[in-house]
Formats: sequence, C-alpha cells, structure tokens
Amino acid sequence: IQSKLPEVGTTIFTIMSKMASDYQAINLSQGYPGFNCDPHLIELVYKYMKEGKNQYAPMSGVPLLRERLVEKTKKVYGVDYDSESEVTIVSGATDAIYSAVTSIVKPGDEVILLEPAYDCYAPAIKLCGGIPVYVPLNLPDFSIHWNSVKDALSDKTRLIMVNTPHNPSGYMWTKEDLENLAQLIVDKDIYVISDEVYEHITFDGRKHLSMMTHPVLKERTFVCGSFGKTFHVTGWKIGYCLAPEEMTREFRKVHQFVTFSTATPLQYALAEYLEDEHHYLELPDFYQKKRDLFCEGLRETELLFTPAQGSFFQQVSYGHLSKESDFDLAVRWTKEIGVASIPISVFFKNKNDHKILRFCFAKLDEELEKAIKIIQKSK
Ligand code: PMP
Ligand code: GLN
Repeated sequence: IQSKLPEVGTTIFTIMSKMASDYQAINLSQGYPGFNCDPHLIELVYKYMKEGKNQYAPMSGVPLLRERLVEKTKKVYGVDYDSESEVTIVSGATDAIYSAVTSIVKPGDEVILLEPAYDCYAPAIKLCGGIPVYVPLNLPDFSIHWNSVKDALSDKTRLIMVNTPHNPSGYMWTKEDLENLAQLIVDKDIYVISDEVYEHITFDGRKHLSMMTHPVLKERTFVCGSFGKTFHVTGWKIGYCLAPEEMTREFRKVHQFVTFSTATPLQYALAEYLEDEHHYLELPDFYQKKRDLFCEGLRETELLFTPAQGSFFQQVSYGHLSKESDFDLAVRWTKEIGVASIPISVFFKNKNDHKILRFCFAKLDEELEKAIKIIQKSK
C-alpha cells in the first residue's frame, strides 16, 4: 500500500502510555485525568440511557446540549452563537479539528502551524493535499513571534491553526496576540482553527481569551472545544465546534460523513450537567493545586521550569544537566525510575531535541507526590 502519511507512525501518547503500563511506571505522559469524573455525571448518563436516549442523535448534536453550550459561552465569554446554525457537537476536539481542516483546505493550500504543535494538525492538512508551513514559537516562553507569522503568509495561505492554552507549553494568548492575528488576516481570505480544549484550565487568575472574543476573529474562526478535558471524561470523546453559519454549513458537510453524530446519552447528560456553572468554574482552583504541588516538588531538584499558565501540563528543562535527548530520557525514566513523560521533540516537524519533558499533572495528589519523590532522587 502506498502510504498517504509515510512519515507518520503511532502517536507518542499511545507509545508512552503503553510503555508506562508495560513497566508499571507512574503515567504522567498522555494527557488524561488519573481520577474519575463526578459520580453525578455518570448517574445522568445512566438516567438518560434508561429513558431510552439510545439511538442516533441529530447530526449537529442534541438541541438541548447546543443550547446549554450557547448559554455557557455567553456567560463565560459574553459572545453569542446561534444554537441551530453555528454550533455542532462532535466526537472530541480531534473530530472538530479534522472536520474543520477538511472543510477548508484544498490541494496546494498553505496552512500556518505554530511549532511546537499538537500532533493531529499536520496529518489532517496533508490528507487534504495542503501544505503545513511551520512558524517556530519563541523559546523558552513559547510566545508568538508575529513578524515571523507575517513573513510566513503567502497568496496560498488559507488557514492558521492556533492553540490556547497551549499544549505542550501551557502558554496562554494575550490580548495583543489576538489583535496581531486579527490584523494579519482582516483583509485576506484566511480562516482560523482555534484549539481551545484547555479553556477552563487556567492559573494565577489568568482568563482564557477565546478567538471568539475578537469581532474580526469570530467571523473567521472554528472554535474547537472538548468536554473531555473540562469534565474529566476524555474517554467519552465528545466536543464541539462553534463557527459562523456559512462555515458551520461546510463543517457539517464533512462531519456528517466522518462520524455523522455523537453518543446520544452523553449529550443529554452533559446538557443537564452544564446547567451548574460550578462544574466548570471550579476547574482553575482544582488544577492549580495540582500544578503547585508538582512545581513545589520540582523546586527541590536542579531541573528548570516556569509554572504553566494553563493546561494540565508542566514542562521541565534539563539541558544544563545532561546531553541525553528528550526522547531517550523519557524512555529511560519510564523504564528505569518508573515515571513516564512526553519528550517535547515529538511536537516538532523535525523532532528537534530541546531537552524538555512534558509532565501531565492531572493525577491524584498521592501519585504526583510519589512521582516527584522519585524525580528528586533521579539523574
Ligand atoms: N487538542 C489538544 C491541544 C489536546 O491536547 C487534545 C488532547 N486530547 C485534543 C485536541 C483532542 O481532544 P479530544 O480528546 O476531545 O479529541
Ligand atoms: N491530548 C493528549 C495529550 O496531549 C493526548 C490525547 C491522545 O492521546 N490523542 O497528551
């Protein structure tokens, strides 16, 4: 078979989680909560299953969930979307991103990616015959070099993909970032896919700035979100895409043939669960305690880090201590000391070794404490 994605293997998240399991390591690699969701949410699913909500949902999502999501969006960001024509419930942000890319990108189109970039962006672009154009973020803070983004634009640029809070760095967009992006695309035929799956996981009083809050960007952006991250149910694979009517129309043409629709009882359960704003407003506090616990432990080591601004990942640099590549170190620590992480080189096209590991702190405190004790004793 002639591969359409010759350079793509199995994702690092699958590889590292398998290795963690094989070596019984504490798994701080793949990003998912190491604890259960609210039992009430599970009861809601059961309730709706018993009520018979077990057949296909409408292609665009259960109306009640779309309405609740619109209410939440208005409450949190002060922005209006029409639940009928501008909101689609999908099978995870991965579905949202794939369907959005597919609805926009034609062969030969260029798509700007800010590197390091989450792993599902480039393959989706390539499968459409598009060309990823990589713009490096400024290290060590992972901020955006807007002149470089400007220089990367061409007549063929069709789309820019952005992600805030950023995986793997936790960097959160500022007002200036939004304004810079808006200025770059305002008079051009360029769309935006904004991956905002960590919208509710933000620290030190920072507020997530969604692309939808800028009037120019709102008109051009597919805002992609994930209930999995917000309600500790990554295994449910359920998310959403908010976009203006014309863009949503094209988006749904694709989505209906990728998955058609998304698990019905989960949609009803989430609609009811969303009514209580505490369920998402308590997230910053909840995760900040875990970030701080992990960072306090790191302070007792020689490793370098800046506490994450958002997301549930903490990056750690060790280049001043060792020449070992981040991939080799992540593998060695999983096998030898029993703590699994993600080497951030995998988020770069050329797998550049920056000697940075990414740790997921969405874990039970006991597990984080155990991991940190091991790391403190390790070389
Ligand atoms: N984007 C980013 C930045 C992520 O970290 C993830 C991780 N799951 C996703 C998208 C995919 O979200 P989902 O599981 O809802 O498909
Ligand atoms: N988003 C998760 C991470 O960055 C992984 C999700 C997946 O394995 N697809 O770790």
